Amino acid sequence: MGFPAQRPRRLRRTGAIRSLVRETGLSAGDLIYPMFVCPGKRVRQEIGSMPGQFNLSADEAVAEAQEARSLGVPAVILFGIPPSKDAKASGAYDPHGVVQEATAAIKKDVEGVLVIADVCLCEYTDHGHCGVVQGEEILNDPTLDLLAKTAVSQARAGADIVAPSDMMDGRVAAIRKGLDAAGFDQVPILSYAAKYASAFYGPFREAAQSTPKFGDRRSHQMDPANVREALKAVRLDIEEGADMVMVKPALPYLDVIHRVRQAVDVPVAAYHVSGEYAMLVAAAKNGWIDRDRAVLESLVAIRRAGADLIVTYFAKEAAHLLGG
Ligand SMILES: [Zn+2]
Repeated sequence: MGFPAQRPRRLRRTGAIRSLVRETGLSAGDLIYPMFVCPGKRVRQEIGSMPGQFNLSADEAVAEAQEARSLGVPAVILFGIPPSKDAKASGAYDPHGVVQEATAAIKKDVEGVLVIADVCLCEYTDHGHCGVVQGEEILNDPTLDLLAKTAVSQARAGADIVAPSDMMDGRVAAIRKGLDAAGFDQVPILSYAAKYASAFYGPFREAAQSTPKFGDRRSHQMDPANVREALKAVRLDIEEGADMVMVKPALPYLDVIHRVRQAVDVPVAAYHVSGEYAMLVAAAKNGWIDRDRAVLESLVAIRRAGADLIVTYFAKEAAHLLGG
C-alpha cells in the first residue's frame, strides 16, 4: 500500500506534528560541560583554537559551573593545567592540585552540580605522555598505581565521578580497587573505553598544554579503522568495574557509538571533542553554516546514534538554545 495512501509528508507538515512524532530527544540534562582549570585567581584566558572556551582559575570555574547548572546542565568535567610538570605527574595526585582545588570549590559553592574528574597523567608529565615512560616506551603497569592515586585524591576532593581517559590496560580495575580501599566504593567510574588516536584532539592539546614531546599516542589509543576492538575494550572495562563507558570522538564515530549501545547495558557517553567544536565554530564564523542549527543537529545525531550523555563544549550554548 504505497502512494497515494502513504504520504510521509503528512507527519512533517507543521512544527507541532514534527514534535509529536520526533524519535530522539535532546535536552540540557543529557550534556556534560568540560572545563580547563588552572592556578591563580580571576584567570580567564581564552584558548586560541577554541574560541569561547577558557583556561579558568578555580573561582572562575565556579562561576562557569554555576551558569551551566542554572541552564540545566547536570555535570561538568574537569581537566587540569598544573603550575609545573614532572616525570611522575605529581600534580595529578597532589591533594592541592588544580583539579582537586577546583573540584572542592565547585562542590562547596554550586548546589547540585556533579563534578566529574578526568583521570590521566598527560597534562601533568613533563614529556606529555599518559603514563610512566622508560626511553620511548610508555610503561603500562607502573602507570596504574599513579592513576589509582589520582582518582583517590580527586574523590577525596569531592569528585562525584572519576573518568579515566589514559587507555592503559587494567586501569579501571586498579582505580576501582584504589577507590574502594580508600572508602570511596560509592564513586562511579566513567571510563573512556573506546578512545581513538584522533586528529580531532588538536585544539584540546593546545588548551591543556599536553602535546607529547616525542612520539604519539597510537601505542595506547585505538586505531580509527577498528570497531570490533572498541567492543572488546568496552567489555573489558565493564568487567573491570566501569559503571559507564565513553566513546571518543563522537561525530566521526557514530557507528561505534551505535555498536557499543547495542552491545552493553550500561550508560553510554560520547565526547564531542575539541576539533569537532573548532570546525563548527570556524565554519560558522565564516558564515558557511548556521551555527545554532549545526550545533543542535550535531548533538541530536550523537544522541540518535545511541549516546545517553554527551560531553560537549557546546553544553551551555545548546542548553540555552533548548530554552534552558
Ligand atoms: Zn592522557
